[in-house]
Amino acid sequence: MLIIDHERCTLCKLCIRSCPFGAFFVEENLLQVNESCTLCGTCTNVCRFNALHIERKLASSEELAKYKGVMVWIELDDAADLPKPKKVSLELLGKGHQLANDLGEELIAVVLTDSEAVDLQTPGHYGADRVILCRHDLLKTYSTDGFTSVLCAVISSNKPAVVLYGATPHGRDLAPRVAARLKLGLTADCTGLEIDEKRQLVQTRPAFGGNIMASIITPYNRPQTSTVRPNVFPIPALDDKHQAVVENFTVTLTKAAIRTRVVEKNYIEEGCEESIENARVLVAAGRGCQKASNLELLRTLACQLGGGLAGSRAIVEQGWIPHTQQVGQSGTTVGPELYIAAGISGAIQHQVGMSSSKTIIAVNKDPEAAIFKLADLGVVGDAQEILPKLSKLIEQDVQK
Ligand SMILES: Cc1cc2nc3c(=O)[nH]c(=O)nc-3n(C[C@H](O)[C@H](O)[C@H](O)COP(=O)(O)OP(=O)(O)OC[C@H]3O[C@@H](n4cnc5c(N)ncnc54)[C@H](O)[C@@H]3O)c2cc1C
Repeated sequence: MLIIDHERCTLCKLCIRSCPFGAFFVEENLLQVNESCTLCGTCTNVCRFNALHIERKLASSEELAKYKGVMVWIELDDAADLPKPKKVSLELLGKGHQLANDLGEELIAVVLTDSEAVDLQTPGHYGADRVILCRHDLLKTYSTDGFTSVLCAVISSNKPAVVLYGATPHGRDLAPRVAARLKLGLTADCTGLEIDEKRQLVQTRPAFGGNIMASIITPYNRPQTSTVRPNVFPIPALDDKHQAVVENFTVTLTKAAIRTRVVEKNYIEEGCEESIENARVLVAAGRGCQKASNLELLRTLACQLGGGLAGSRAIVEQGWIPHTQQVGQSGTTVGPELYIAAGISGAIQHQVGMSSSKTIIAVNKDPEAAIFKLADLGVVGDAQEILPKLSKLIEQDVQK
């Protein structure tokens, strides 16, 4: 709630000019605020007379303690005949299981679908204790309105302490909608999640252009909500003896509540250079590759290894590859078995996108390049000389 101290207010109107939501007006010579106010705090920041204060209702520790368990939104890959959880959902079940264990509480998976035939076993095999199944014809395809309504209802009635979403296009759309509707905090693109001694979720993510790692907590409300990019956490080991209890959630949804409809779906054709997110092998180019035509060497190597071509932001900005192939903080987070970095310095913004790769090989002329600190194998030298040699060796090996 915004409190206006009329005794202090001089009607200087600085707050009126600064408010991003146009929430202030003057009536009977007094400053007033309407329901557009989101308590964003811009006005309290600019007021020179200390006339504006935000009073946030603090939930008591008893109220916070009513929220229990870790919930994971299971995004389904509905391209398959039997819709299955996406890889990122399994990664989140692994991390969620660890958080739930630290809290001594349950791990809950939430599945939204229209399908009668949906894989409800897998979440249990990856650690879920309970699967909440929300089935409704209007959940056939993802819609912001439909999924937000249903998930808000599930969260409100189950009161989890933590909710995790994959930072996929749909997850990035859904999580802020739910957070806004339920007035929750949300930390996007977390790279670390831990429970502290006060049983709070500590959400770590790069901030200020990746120059610092911020640890974010949500002390005043529940659930604590986060998105995590694919490939940040490993997929846990499958335990087919672990079964989850499946619970049906009654969904109330009408067509009128969904303001959008899917007209057409267009998939990018599969190819050597597509989907770096799921690639097993990536050969990544940096500015050290010097010119776009030199990327042919890397493309050849990538194809020989059954992988894809990726790159740093520097070469995306040069227009050598599209943004869909950029690895890093403002690109994609990847986690291949093998990542070959050629002519990449290893800036922190690049590292956050590839450090979970299983094996990293770096080729760089500068022995002091930061990428070498991360690499399992480092080659100091000219990428244009080394990569063709590597390609040749692979070719000879294949011919044997
Ligand atoms: C907010 C923000 C977000 C960002 N997001 C990303 C992101 O998502 N992804 C990303 O990559 N960057 C990102 N950046 C940019 C990042 O800071 C670096 O500028 C970028 O990663 C540098 O790319 P590079 O390593 O290709 O180029 P450089 O840093 O210029 O490095 C080139 C390297 O090539 C080596 N080299 C030169 N010639 C040769 C040769 N013949 N053979 C071998 N090695 C050679 C050099 O020694 C050098 O180490 C971001 C920056 C900011 C501020």
